[in-house]
Amino acid sequence: MTKPYRLQRDAALGTRNTFGVAARAPLLVEVADTAALSEVFADVVPAGAPVLVLGGGSNLLFAGDPEGAVLALAGRRTTVVEDDGEVAIVRTEAGANWHEFVLWSLAHGFTGLENLALIPGTVGAAPIQNIGAYGVEVRDHIHAVEAFERAPGTLRRMDAAACAFAYRDSVFKREPDRFVVTAVEFALPRQAPLKLDYAGVGDELVAMGIAVPSPTQVAEAVCRIRRRKLPDPSVIGNAGSFFKNPIVPAAQAAELQSAYLALPVFRGSDETTRKLSAAWLIDQCGWKGHRDGDAGVAASHALVLVNHGRATGAELLALARDIAGSVHERFGVLLEPEPRVIGATW
Ligand SMILES: Cc1cc2nc3c(=O)[nH]c(=O)nc-3n(C[C@H](O)[C@H](O)[C@H](O)COP(=O)(O)OP(=O)(O)OC[C@H]3O[C@@H](n4cnc5c(N)ncnc54)[C@H](O)[C@@H]3O)c2cc1C
Repeated sequence: MTKPYRLQRDAALGTRNTFGVAARAPLLVEVADTAALSEVFADVVPAGAPVLVLGGGSNLLFAGDPEGAVLALAGRRTTVVEDDGEVAIVRTEAGANWHEFVLWSLAHGFTGLENLALIPGTVGAAPIQNIGAYGVEVRDHIHAVEAFERAPGTLRRMDAAACAFAYRDSVFKREPDRFVVTAVEFALPRQAPLKLDYAGVGDELVAMGIAVPSPTQVAEAVCRIRRRKLPDPSVIGNAGSFFKNPIVPAAQAAELQSAYLALPVFRGSDETTRKLSAAWLIDQCGWKGHRDGDAGVAASHALVLVNHGRATGAELLALARDIAGSVHERFGVLLEPEPRVIGATW
């Protein structure tokens, strides 16, 4: 009988991360059926060894090789679990491509995910950092997350509250060795108000000559903006925004804003905090387009670190640290990386 997983020792990861940096996994386990996860953890992964679950590698920086095992989930099936004609519960396995799933949902008449079109990566990774773009976060549409919990070694179905979603954060991101997300259930309405007021979506629709857009047209507008603004990882290695927008006390934001009138300030998680634009802070420090060898900052976007060719993860990390250091020195604001750094501590 064929095993529901496949093992590869000393596996190259250079094509499995969108920075395109070289790294090797001591053991790569490709799991075809998540029902085999208890067997994998009992028989294949050395007890207590670190495990990196790898999706599309679009939110990772390999600053060194991962230790232990790397796990890749192959399941990609999507099923409509319930559909009362107004809202459907749609379940998708973790290995599915995110953008293809968004397009599938729109083609089937479901709304809600249109602003999240063209985000690279897998469905299983979407809840990890609660992906967000153009005024929408995936938590807005997550009904439940199915996850294998390493100890006690069982599958769990977690509602949104148990996932503890926050800005680019969740329990899965905070406790990366605890869970393997196996599937995500989405609650997708047939009709819902469209979000058009964020970062040029409305203007793009006007430029497309569309006055009353459909959700699919909103997704198309988002794709057009993203293709213009963000470097394509298949052309130049990158992991999207490298830094989260920093959240600071409201008083600090007010002080900074009075010193720097153009500083963009957004609502925080509550009344006592504010979110600052990391891109603006980095740009003010002169980093846009900067290059240290093959490690650089995109010329079009101060938040995006790029690999011009042969940069190592360690070189990209060193550049990121220099950027964060200069922002801290000038503005007193700490930047945190958005991607997970493997093989080094931030
Ligand atoms: C050009 C570009 C644009 C981007 N734009 C955005 C954006 O607009 N908004 C946004 O939020 N993000 C954005 N990102 C970041 C990235 O696309 C998302 O975070 C995406 O969800 C990562 O998916 P992945 O499958 O590549 O995850 P990976 O990079 O493989 O993994 C990321 C993290 O999730 C964990 N993980 C992955 N799958 C699982 C699983 N099944 N179970 C448990 N843990 C898991 C990994 O261990 C790792 O810690 C962008 C990236 C790029 C390259």
